[in-house]
Amino acid sequence: MKFSVTILGSNSAFPAFGRFPSAQVINFNESLFLVDCGEGTQIQMSRYKIRRSRIDHIFISHLHGDHVYGLPGLLTSYAQLSRREPLRITGPKGIRELIDTTLKLSHARTGFDILFTELSADHGETVLRTPGLHVTAFPLNHRITTYGYLFEEQPRPLNVRKECIDMYQLTTEQILDLKSGKDIILNGNTIPALEMTLPAEPERAYAYCSDTAYSDKILEYIRGVQVIYHETTFMDDLGELAAFSKHSTTRQAARIAELAKAGALITGHYSSRYRDLGPLLDETRTFFPATYLGLDGRTYHIGPEGITHVEAPDRN
Ligand SMILES: [Zn+2]
Ligand SMILES: [Zn+2]
Repeated sequence: MKFSVTILGSNSAFPAFGRFPSAQVINFNESLFLVDCGEGTQIQMSRYKIRRSRIDHIFISHLHGDHVYGLPGLLTSYAQLSRREPLRITGPKGIRELIDTTLKLSHARTGFDILFTELSADHGETVLRTPGLHVTAFPLNHRITTYGYLFEEQPRPLNVRKECIDMYQLTTEQILDLKSGKDIILNGNTIPALEMTLPAEPERAYAYCSDTAYSDKILEYIRGVQVIYHETTFMDDLGELAAFSKHSTTRQAARIAELAKAGALITGHYSSRYRDLGPLLDETRTFFPATYLGLDGRTYHIGPEGITHVEAPDRN
């Protein structure tokens, strides 16, 4: 089952060196979820062939412009393209006022419902539940109220061994029982589900952590995830600036990935002082070897142990 993240914007503050402000799309089994929507997100969507019509849920980390100023434009595009399906937007308290005010002052009308979920809790909160995926918002440590998002695949049914289906001519009801782990009765004998099934693939999880100062409080939410996207706005020598602006350094992001026992770390939200990101990647890898440079247009596929492969865009 597909579980991947495509970065649409990896820069902080403003666009620079071909990098756009924060936005990314999670693809879970062909359902698309947009996380943050900085300026230029629509341009990146068309460049990297993300169909915006397939997005029904948008998660916003915080209301700093580099994470949200692309959203009014996206909404008015939906209106002009005659969208009818409701759109769910989850973000910190104030997201509704920001959008409502912008649309009202622009005299923009949408022909679809926008369903807001406004967050203000200082603890984790599940904000989406589907049979296959749960999304939990959890507080980060930034200059304004900010949430990270944890995407957790839900346990899948067991796989019934094909040779058993044929050999015992199992009924649909028996197969469903086995899939859910229930033993079945065959000719008066109890057959344990364990003998007739193969284990399901382990569940995978992805955590989005941006923007934030170093905070080990987030570990309770992200422990054991396969992949973490954690901001690395600054390199290690700018720790004081990171603390002042409530951002993180390479070393701090790596430390979080290490303490969380993550399979892989994706860096991002780079300061515009870094044109060349090679040194930033090298430095992060000295602290956490399974680090991948987050770059606009790249798609990172999430497997049971971390990132299975990275797809680069046709053009950048
Ligand atoms: Zn930011
Ligand atoms: Zn910010």
